[in-house]
Amino acid sequence: MEPDVRSILRKLNIRPSRSLGQNFLRDGWVLQRIAEAAELAQDDIVLEIGPGIGNLTSYLAEDAGFVVAVEIDKRLVQVLHDLLAGYRNVHVINADILRLDLKKELAPFMASSDGTPRSLKVVANLPYYITTPVIMKLLESDIAAECMVVMVQKEVAARMMAKPGGKDYGALSVSVAYYSKPTVIMDVPPDCFTPQPGVDSAVVRLDLHKTPPVELKDRDLFFKVVKAAFGQRRKTLLNALSNAGYIGAGKDQVRMLLQKVGIDEMRRGETLSIYQFAQLSNELYDMLN
Ligand code: SAM
Repeated sequence: MEPDVRSILRKLNIRPSRSLGQNFLRDGWVLQRIAEAAELAQDDIVLEIGPGIGNLTSYLAEDAGFVVAVEIDKRLVQVLHDLLAGYRNVHVINADILRLDLKKELAPFMASSDGTPRSLKVVANLPYYITTPVIMKLLESDIAAECMVVMVQKEVAARMMAKPGGKDYGALSVSVAYYSKPTVIMDVPPDCFTPQPGVDSAVVRLDLHKTPPVELKDRDLFFKVVKAAFGQRRKTLLNALSNAGYIGAGKDQVRMLLQKVGIDEMRRGETLSIYQFAQLSNELYDMLN
């Protein structure tokens, strides 16, 4: 069913907030495709970020066992209770997703009433101003989600999918590859939203790895090396890594490190695969310990 976003907002006397990234989906087909991409079942619990006026929430509540929806805007939380009154399996939390202790908030809902454990899926039309921090928080958290289906700007989707060597490849691409297998589900043009955003969007599904594709001696050090390599993209690896004080190695050490793993010191970070980043950080770990 096509939600008439404009008249719902008018009736509720709500002006969408640009600063909270309130671009509501008004295309029923896109809403359905997002819910389908999550392959929901009755023993699934969905964490939805930013339910807005509940357009996507109702599709999720139809197919999943339970939906926990986190919305920052108090005005919307008040009207969501009425808009979703027909669903008994939705719990709305008024909070900033970036400040929430997810594991604690989700714990009471992680089993159904008969005690069967539920598997967790994240589904969201993300507010664009915090897309990357939200994705990173979810990937790094210990909530053990099975998959995430998220609407993001098309340009962010390209960064999530990027392989070494291109301009889109960066720290986000390496993090996504470390934690998950990403797939683009569909592109979504601005006219599927009210109000229309100034950018194209895409829906991406991330299937979280049970075992990461690389073995790391120190995960924090791995991500520090990645951050350092992309922090100064135009610099050679030798300079980028030795200029970043936080990885704890000076120029001579970095030169030795690169020689040891057989990576040319003149290369740039954006050419390294996740396997090479792992090799580098594991070798650095041995050198520093
Ligand atoms: N799910 C709705 C839809 O698809 O039409 C709304 C999506 S809209 C792009 C993003 C939603 O996220 C808005 O409802 C906004 O208020 C909410 N939001 C923005 N920042 C948030 C935050 N830090 N924590 C939780 N929700 C947030």
